[in-house]
Amino acid sequence: MDAEQLREQAHKMVDFIADYYKTIENFPVLSQVEPGYLGKLLPDSAPTYPTTLEHVLNDVQHKILPGVTHWQSPNYFAYFPSNSSIAGFLGEMLSAGINIVGFSWITSPAATELESIVLDWLAKALFLPQDFLSNGKGGGVIQGTASEAVLVVLLAARDKILRTVGRSALPKLVTYASDHVHSSLLKACQIGGLDPELCRLLKTDSSTNFALSPDVLSEAISNDIASGLIPFFLCANVGTTSSTAVDPLPALAKVTKTNNIWLHVDAAYAGSACICPEYRHFIDGVEEADSFNMNAHKWFLTNFDCSLLWVKDRSALIQSLSTNPEFLKNKASEGNMVIDYKDWQIPLGRRFRSLKLWMVLRLYGLEGLRAHIRNHIALAASFEELVVQDARFKVVTPRTFSLVCFRLLPPPNSEDNGNKLNHDLLDLVNSTGSVFITHTVLSGEYILRLAVGAPLTEVRHVNAAWQILQEKATALLENL
Ligand code: PLP
Repeated sequence: MDAEQLREQAHKMVDFIADYYKTIENFPVLSQVEPGYLGKLLPDSAPTYPTTLEHVLNDVQHKILPGVTHWQSPNYFAYFPSNSSIAGFLGEMLSAGINIVGFSWITSPAATELESIVLDWLAKALFLPQDFLSNGKGGGVIQGTASEAVLVVLLAARDKILRTVGRSALPKLVTYASDHVHSSLLKACQIGGLDPELCRLLKTDSSTNFALSPDVLSEAISNDIASGLIPFFLCANVGTTSSTAVDPLPALAKVTKTNNIWLHVDAAYAGSACICPEYRHFIDGVEEADSFNMNAHKWFLTNFDCSLLWVKDRSALIQSLSTNPEFLKNKASEGNMVIDYKDWQIPLGRRFRSLKLWMVLRLYGLEGLRAHIRNHIALAASFEELVVQDARFKVVTPRTFSLVCFRLLPPPNSEDNGNKLNHDLLDLVNSTGSVFITHTVLSGEYILRLAVGAPLTEVRHVNAAWQILQEKATALLENL
């Protein structure tokens, strides 16, 4: 690594990225390439001799960017957001520059200590219970994704119960969640050797706005116990992927407590909103949870990846995930004086991810982050209002955060229940390249989702998205 070469080339790269952001609206937000497009543009084998950065950047511009879906475009309203910010970008840059591998405290004390500190800061900002702070038995850790977060706590909960009931009881362990839990729970069960049939995805419907009913949970648990099974884990949602449904944590926690079940709260998207006092009540009940997760890389201006996990009892994680090979032994670890985050996660190696979160917290401050959240929620409310005003459309579930779930109503006497109509509308709208939205299915109905959350989105982008939806709806209805 030649420092002067780095300076020169990194400046060029920053210029390239700044120009990308300047012109981001010129790209179709959803990439319009066909599968296999890149193989036709790139050589079959690796280059034998080096080329210049200029040549590479030229290829990025003409060959790579056409195959990019622009998550940072202000016209991106798909899935959930994945925020980028100058602070997050600079943190990533610094982390890539220093490039440490911080699996044990000794491998870079600052990496471990900064991670504990920023997770404690955020735990306080979210008013998480004291037990989640690192000065007691709990603590926070940065995982790559919410999928890894639910996996590690599921393994911890599995091993905790098996220590009591014996390892041979593994096939009897039952996991619970609503039928709108993220698919990562099922994947975690598969990886954890649990019977996927015993991952109970309990039915929800519009009567609870797709939130899990504590009565339904209680009944399922009673039935399973009566069948000789062992309930051990509930994944509750604060903000489901489909519709941002919020499960009633206090009532669910009563059920999990009575039945000695690990309660994990998945607030991957909506957790960010809970730093605002007016939205904090959505995680009331978290006091009783064993673990809590939110993705700072979704809606918290922190570049991917940065998933925040807090646990009340870190020893449960460590008992499941720790190994202690000779080649990693050192005085600080042996003396039990430090956190070794390798024992809180699946891989050994880990990046210095806390740097970007620390930079985001410092360069925005909590008030800046709250303004960011409130702005998107206000924009989503304005979009919801537009939908309400057009009688051809219906808002399907009450909007809670910055996601609006809506659909175009089929004309009376139509043979289609609206599913094909909305499917076609989605395809038409996305094929314009001017906007990207996605869908879900709620109670058998195909629904359109518009999630506001890209940092560059302004009211004019929301209005333009609505105009495209209206135009395409008109065209579709006229041609029925
Ligand atoms: N949980 C919820 C509620 C989500 O919306 C998502 C992804 O959108 C996940 C979990 C999985 O997130 P990740 O990609 O970080 O694994």
